This record gives sequence, structure tokens and C-alpha cells, in this order.
Amino acid sequence: MRDLRVSITDRCNFRCLYCLPETEQAANFYRTKFDAVRNPKPFALTPIRYEWKPRADLLTFEEIERFVRISVSLGIEKVRVTGGEPMLRKGVETLVGKLAAIPGVQDLAMTTNGQLFAAKAAVLRAAGLKRVSFSMDSLDRANFQKLTGRDGLAEVLAGLDTARQLGFGPVKVNAVVIRDLNDHELEALAEFAHERDLSFRFIEFMPLDSSRAWQKELVVPGREILARLRARFGLVPVDQAGNPAETARRWAFPDGRGEIGIIAPVSEPFCGHCNRLRLTADGKLRTCLFSLAEHDFRPLLRGGASDDDLAARLIELVTHKEAGHRIGQPDFVQPARTMSCIGG
Ligand code: SAM
Ligand code: SF4
Repeated sequence: MRDLRVSITDRCNFRCLYCLPETEQAANFYRTKFDAVRNPKPFALTPIRYEWKPRADLLTFEEIERFVRISVSLGIEKVRVTGGEPMLRKGVETLVGKLAAIPGVQDLAMTTNGQLFAAKAAVLRAAGLKRVSFSMDSLDRANFQKLTGRDGLAEVLAGLDTARQLGFGPVKVNAVVIRDLNDHELEALAEFAHERDLSFRFIEFMPLDSSRAWQKELVVPGREILARLRARFGLVPVDQAGNPAETARRWAFPDGRGEIGIIAPVSEPFCGHCNRLRLTADGKLRTCLFSLAEHDFRPLLRGGASDDDLAARLIELVTHKEAGHRIGQPDFVQPARTMSCIGG
């Protein structure tokens, strides 16, 4: 295990259809197409009310710092701050500073929807944030709004530009690809990556949405994405022999500007190589995105456990990390918590 993802809040300012949809109708946007017979009723347009974790349940910056320090002493090298939307956590730059100062943290990154990034980008850079990944599923203002529930494309693009200007590099952008929703934009998104010399990741839609509306028909398999982009751009494979744990299969543009990555956890699982752990904002360790069990570190962190106790518990849990997810198997059960709580 080398990669730890720390969610620092379960709250978000976006309402992505595939994560925290705004309304029942948004969550079930595809039903009329795939499931109209079983679900003929209209879905409500009123906003879904989400119950956020109370502040006292969230780990403090000191508790997160301690957990990360112990994880690093056991072999974690890369730390990613995520959420929910990490930019919503007050004082996020203070936490970044604390994590950057831990000896042994070789890479400190953040995943953000980008809307609030530009305003704090310089402070985060100065605090020691090395890399940032943006989530941007569409380059079309109306489609962006449909996907995220917010008219925020211009702010995300501004955040991306600021990140590049400040030398966060390489700047990555992630797009979740959903059939008939944004798959018509694949080539435009790839062209954008090429023009701006970005590392662009296309991610298969996973069953981690809060409304449990996921259906396999909505997944655009990585193979299909790649075939389309190769046909259009003549992509060449990037040598990844030295890094088997990378989740993305990477492809370069022939002129060397920009890069495409395909992340296909549903159609081509990479569980055997997974080296990731996740800590939720309320202090639960997850050894897999699709874990059904969570392991609560908050009582240990708050109850006087020593660093050695915490390390022993971590080692014990990691030893029992799942062999793989069960998506597509008859016994697959979607985890109770969604991507916005788990931390993507
Ligand atoms: N709010 C931040 C953001 O959107 O970048 C960070 C948290 S978000 C949960 C992290 C990543 O998870 C995003 O790139 C998002 O697109 C991805 N994600 C959320 N729900 C997903 C799903 N059901 N399937 C695949 N990826 C998902
Ligand atoms: Fe918020 Fe990120 Fe989930 Fe979108 S994917 S709703 S931005 S946590």
C-alpha cells in the first residue's frame, strides 16, 4: 500500500448526477430509456435533502495529520486530499501545510471539482500542495450544468488555468463517461487535453451514486472509449512497465502534447494491482472503494491509543484487504456510502 486518499469533508457544492444528484429526477435521468416499464412513475423535482456529518464527527486536522504520519511510517508515499469537495473545508491550506511537512510524503495531491480552486490556488501551492486533479465531465455549458447541477464550467476552466500558471504539474483532469450523457463529447475533451497539454483521464461510471441509479447500460467500456480516441488521434501507448499499480492505461498524442488515460474499473478491473487505502472524513478506513466494512479509527484517535496501537490496527486491516470488487457478479452489493463520502 503506497497511496492514501483522505476525504476531509462529505459536503459538496456540486450535485453530480453520478454522485450526489440534486433531485430524484436527476438521479433517474435515464430510466425512461432503459427502465420505463418497471418504473413508469414520474420522479420528484424537489431537491433531495442530504444529511451531512456533524462537524464533531469529522477528524480534526491534528487527527488527520497523525493518521497520515503513522501510515507514512508504514509505507504510504502518496497522499491525496479529497472529499466531498475538499475546498469547502475551512482552513484546507492549513491541513495541506501539515501534511506537506510530514517526512516521507513524496507526493501530495488534491482532487477538486475546481469551482472554488482559483481563489486559494496560490495559498495551497505555498502550503506544499504539489499536484491537483480537476473533475470536468463536459465542455458544453448546458451539459456541464446537467451533469453537475451547477452552472460552473467557466469557474472550473479558470481554476485549471490558474493551476497551470502556478506550476502544479502535470495538471490532471478526470471525466466520468456516461452513455448518452457525455460520451458524444469524448473527442472534444481529448482535443482539449491535447491543446492545453493536459493529462486527461476518462473514468467508467461506477455503482457509487447516492441514489443507486447506476446501471451497466450506462457504462461506456474503456475499450470503446479508447477505440474511438485512437481512431481519431492516432494515440501511442505510454510505457508503464515501471508502475503496475497505476489505474489508468495511458496514451500519448503523437506530437507529445497532452496525454489520455483510461480508467476502467468496471469492465477491466485492476484490483490485483491496487495499492490504495481510503480514510473517510469521519475517520473510517476503507481498504477498497467497494468495501462493505469500514474500520473506525476515530475512537482510537480520540481514545488514547498509542501510535503503535494505531499502526498495529492498520497493518491488521491492510493484511485483509479485499481481493477485488464484485461488480457484475450476482452477489455484488453496492456500498452503503457513496463516492462523495468515501473520497474518490
Ligand atoms: N469533489 C471532488 C471532485 O469531484 O473532484 C472530489 C471528490 S469526487 C467524489 C472524486 C472523483 O470521484 C471525481 O473525479 C468524480 O468524478 C468521481 N466519481 C464520483 N462518483 C463517481 C461514480 N459513480 N463513478 C465514477 N467516478 C465517480
Ligand atoms: Fe461533489 Fe465531486 Fe461528487 Fe461531484 S463528484 S457531487 S463534485 S463530490
